[in-house]
Amino acid sequence: LTKHFPVRGAGRDVLRRGAAVHAVDDVALSLHRGRVTALVGESGSGKSTVARLLAQLQTRTGGAVRLHGKDVTVHGGRRFRAYCRSVQLIFQDPFASLNPVHTVRYHLTRALRVHGHAGRTARELEEALTDLLGRVRLTPAEQYLAKFPHELSGGQRQRVAIARALAARPEVLLADEPVSMLDVSIRLGVLNLLRDLKEQLSLAVLYITHDIASARYFADETLVMYAGRLVEGGESETVTQSPAHPYTRLLIDSAPDPERIGSAQRAELDEDDLGEPPSLVTPPAGCRFHPRCPHAMERCTTELPPRFEVSGKQWAACWLYDNGSPAPAGES
Ligand code: SF4
Ligand code: MG
Repeated sequence: LTKHFPVRGAGRDVLRRGAAVHAVDDVALSLHRGRVTALVGESGSGKSTVARLLAQLQTRTGGAVRLHGKDVTVHGGRRFRAYCRSVQLIFQDPFASLNPVHTVRYHLTRALRVHGHAGRTARELEEALTDLLGRVRLTPAEQYLAKFPHELSGGQRQRVAIARALAARPEVLLADEPVSMLDVSIRLGVLNLLRDLKEQLSLAVLYITHDIASARYFADETLVMYAGRLVEGGESETVTQSPAHPYTRLLIDSAPDPERIGSAQRAELDEDDLGEPPSLVTPPAGCRFHPRCPHAMERCTTELPPRFEVSGKQWAACWLYDNGSPAPAGES
């Protein structure tokens, strides 16, 4: 997938006619049922744009989106509509995604109707509502159905948003920072819920986060994104315990405490440690990380590194792994 946004308006950012923000460049990933894939990166790295491209909320500049190997391109077609049912997006802020003037019952009933799962009788609808709220562990259902979003806690609102996504009976959940606006104390509960749903419903989950420690805890596979490109990927355990790409190492080193998932202290990365992300209007040539990389070599400034296999469980887009030659040992 590739997504370039044209730069509009006046000002210093407009460097030349046809300037574009290179938000996403050549990002290739596969999601699989029953697996959580984490997409990790700093804010502005393009990870939300990837989710929006997959959800068809934005049109791509290049590339393709396939479901079960079939291209989903023609907007409005039957295959496109089926795709939009199969792939549901959960946003960071459940308060913004729920309408404040409507009850939980309204939100869920509407979603069930839209997707044709409301049943034929009032009783079947009631059963479907109870089932949805049960799945997200808001029980008994009667206690929640009449409530408005402001009468729920942040965690409860996110559970309602998840229930609404489930009303479509999706195969894929795209969860964009689903817990980062929630109280630290309830983050783990929502992640555990998503993990259980993944198991029960055999969902493919894309978990977007800036918190690499939570990826280790929650995701089967972890992909690391930097300045619009994927730079490393593999089994979460391997990528987070022995990161190969210099950027992933920096990301882990600047995360306050990898053992304390979701604690207040590690809610945000230390932006100073990470340094400045590059301009995406004129991204650096070669490896986009080279201006910040402690291992940068001559070729890094001109040649874009392809993916190199580091081990059977991990790859990195970094010249240090060319010809399988390993990175200097013991460096971070
Ligand atoms: Fe650093 Fe070069 Fe690897 Fe980029 S390709 S991360 S600049 S060593
Ligand atoms: Mg984002």
